[in-house]
Amino acid sequence: MLSNPKIVVVGSLNMDIVVETDVIPMVGETVLGQQAHFIPGGKGANQAVALARLGADVQMIGAVGTDSFGKDLLDALQREGIALDGIKQEDGVATGIAIIQLCQKDNRITVVPGANHRVLPSDVDRHESLIAAADLVLLQMEIPLPTVVQAARIAKRYGKTVILNPAPAQVLPEGLLAQIDYITPNKSELDVLAGNESQGQKDLEQSIAQMFAQGAKHVITTLGANGVAFAGNDTPLTTCPCYSVEVVDTTGAGDAFNAGLAYSIATGAKLADAANFASRVAALSVTKLGAQAGMPTLEEVMTKGM
Ligand code: ATP
Repeated sequence: MLSNPKIVVVGSLNMDIVVETDVIPMVGETVLGQQAHFIPGGKGANQAVALARLGADVQMIGAVGTDSFGKDLLDALQREGIALDGIKQEDGVATGIAIIQLCQKDNRITVVPGANHRVLPSDVDRHESLIAAADLVLLQMEIPLPTVVQAARIAKRYGKTVILNPAPAQVLPEGLLAQIDYITPNKSELDVLAGNESQGQKDLEQSIAQMFAQGAKHVITTLGANGVAFAGNDTPLTTCPCYSVEVVDTTGAGDAFNAGLAYSIATGAKLADAANFASRVAALSVTKLGAQAGMPTLEEVMTKGM
């Protein structure tokens, strides 16, 4: 059992600019907002931070601009003890941002990927040694898909475990699924991957079966407050409720779940135990405000009663 598994995250870094308003402006209208918050985000960075809090030895491969947001994001990762060797600072491109308009608990989000779209397959090649030294590689889809494919290919060449969080939902490039050991779509992402029209949770079994028909080895589908469903070549379809907690902010619950799953799998856990651990990490994350700020430590996951 490894207590400090080495995990490489290849993914996005964004500055989330959260603006709270009472009303959403109409076309041509200007409204006054109450507050603006600048919060480090991006699925890759969120998952990297959650892994570091759990005690993993984390390397991240990604890109930011040479602007002040880029520096802020790198500082935030460094404070968490995440190694930055794989993150390039690109001239002539802005750091990725997400503009989040919060209005009476509804949110509208615009993402400008910026430097995240400059994370190229050649960057993964350049940092092949990080992957060679890792126990597990964790991927999402907020960077160019050819880069995701290249990371998975290199990881498999070294016999590493690969987890893909296929978010945001996109059809997978040919051949990618064969390189993935665990795929973790939420329900709507699952429907896109399976090519199904969503019918709530009714068609869950059918969509997961379709993923296996396409060559998936393990499918873990998060269902928000309805918990998680998972199945593997060696594990029958199982659905578990989520842990009951006082919800403050569900932003980043999926990222917390993916980090918990990756940590647990990398330490040698079986799928059912890893899904349970991941559910605990995700539940604790929703009890606090902010995606990265809300990620729990290993001690909290092991000791908090839920
Ligand atoms: P996001 O994109 O907002 O990060 P997601 O759609 O990827 O989220 P969800 O399916 O919403 O991910 O949630 C991931 C996991 O978080 C769930 O499987 C569950 O374990 C946990 N979770 C979500 N909502 C709650 C809740 N209200 N209470 C406890 N746990 C929750």
